[in-house]
Amino acid sequence: MYRTRTCGDLRLADEGLVITLAGWVQKIRKMGGMTFVDIRDRYGITQLVFNQEVDAALCEKANKLGREYVIQVTGTVRERSSKNTHLPTGDIELIVSALNVLNTALTPPFTIEDETDGGDDLRMKYRYLDLRRACVRKNLELRHKMAFEVRRYLDEQGFLEVETPVLVNSTPEGARDFVVPSRMNPGQFYALPQSPQTLKQLLMVSGFDRYFQIVKCFRDEDLRADRQPEFTQIDCEMSFVEQEDVLTVFEGMAKHLFKTIRGIDFKAPFMRMTWQDAMKYYGSDKPDLRFGMRFVELMDIMKGHGFSVFDNAAYIGGICAENAANYTRKQLDALTEFVKRPQIGAKGLVYARVGADGTVKSSVDKFYSQEVLQEMKNAFGAKPGDLILILSGDDAMKTRKQLCELRLEMGNQLGLRDKDQFVCLWVIDFPLFEWNEEDQRFYAMHHPFTSPNPDDIPLLDTDPGTVRANAYDMVINGVEVGGGSIRIHDSQLQDKMFKLLGFTEERAQEQFGFLMNAFKYGAPPHGGLAFGLDRLVSLFAGLDSIRDCIAFPKNNSGRDVMLDAPSVLEPGQLEELNLVVDIKK
Ligand code: ASP
Repeated sequence: MYRTRTCGDLRLADEGLVITLAGWVQKIRKMGGMTFVDIRDRYGITQLVFNQEVDAALCEKANKLGREYVIQVTGTVRERSSKNTHLPTGDIELIVSALNVLNTALTPPFTIEDETDGGDDLRMKYRYLDLRRACVRKNLELRHKMAFEVRRYLDEQGFLEVETPVLVNSTPEGARDFVVPSRMNPGQFYALPQSPQTLKQLLMVSGFDRYFQIVKCFRDEDLRADRQPEFTQIDCEMSFVEQEDVLTVFEGMAKHLFKTIRGIDFKAPFMRMTWQDAMKYYGSDKPDLRFGMRFVELMDIMKGHGFSVFDNAAYIGGICAENAANYTRKQLDALTEFVKRPQIGAKGLVYARVGADGTVKSSVDKFYSQEVLQEMKNAFGAKPGDLILILSGDDAMKTRKQLCELRLEMGNQLGLRDKDQFVCLWVIDFPLFEWNEEDQRFYAMHHPFTSPNPDDIPLLDTDPGTVRANAYDMVINGVEVGGGSIRIHDSQLQDKMFKLLGFTEERAQEQFGFLMNAFKYGAPPHGGLAFGLDRLVSLFAGLDSIRDCIAFPKNNSGRDVMLDAPSVLEPGQLEELNLVVDIKK
């Protein structure tokens, strides 16, 4: 046995006990004739004491230790005279009587501490060392606990975890597939699943009425802070359910997680918002409702007063930032620069301050009488001391999205996006289709298996763009943590859907014949959703990037810099796969 206790669990009550610890050398300090070594393992840190006068040889041995050496020590637990209130073990120390060096270590390329001196790239390359840092380790512990509580909750609700294959054909979730060549079928490729969507629907046909799986999914997309080429879903599907049933079960799951993991008890039902309202009032299908600043449209009030920018606009709208009238000219110029960045693309920003006496002073005063400005102020319900920010543009949806960015930025600047406050909602009634100007065709907004709202089925023939889907997203603090839909279970309706999406009969048959066929053998009504586990964990942990809760993540170019993947194949391997690589420039 290497150890009798861990480095995190010794307390004052253990005083006098002789125990053995094993772990890594965190820090060595020499003071007079004493040497203090902090030993670390997964559970914490304990201070070890070596005394030159008591055992000179042992102390000498301790003096030769280096950072990150792996050691085993035996000693007696003693109360510390100067206690460390920052450490759970800070009341005690271990008076060492035996030291065994289990392994030496090279000096690590960065300090193994929460406030490390290592940059991102270096830490990614030595991720196994980065994972030794308590702040990183905690995220993985949280991830484990969350996955465990998900399983507990879903098991209690009668869900079965069923594994589905990783080598499949392509599933159209709207991203590019990662593909794997087949050695036994030369020239043919598997695709890695973007999600187990069709497979879980087939499980419903098989009668597994409550399925879930914590499962890796793969999408070859451009990466962002909340995207990785491989990520983990809590994938779920239920039979004999309507939208309300699905929302109830999974709102329950979110509440269970908040309660067991964060100790937060959400009593009230989650808010619901239609996609239309989300776009209209927040310019986003995942509004962050930790703060207000709901959009106010100003077309009626601000158009037609000679200010050509507004007079020619298809949309004029703004937000009111409470108590921000003290923003300086410099801050307002910076906000203007912010909205004019190419990623946002606004042409300019109009602002108006509400003075202490209620009068409004704006950057476009020469076009507007105080009367009109007061009317505008009232539309926002603005008070003295508030700041109104207005954008306009020739495309309403685009301008709303720009205003959304401005709203989020103001939320950041005014400290309204507290990571310890959680506001959850369901966004419902998504459109079934999204029109793509470039390709001049409809795409499924969610995926092609999503059912239309029954009330809108007649519109499929006349005005498909306005058909609402039976689709829903769970949004927490502006993050889409999960989404799903009630599915089509009727092979004829599914057929029609494929046609509307521009599939020829042959292609639909080729790609989805298996599903359409299955639907002919008694498919129950069904629906489900999938949560992004990485996003949920990073939200619960208050992280800015999902990378921090993934043990071995990839960087922004999709590379694993530690493994150096992807990489080229040996000629022999290509030969075996019957492949010739000819890279197009
Ligand atoms: N497969 C969907 C997705 O990955 C989720 C669902 O509809 O259940 O977004």
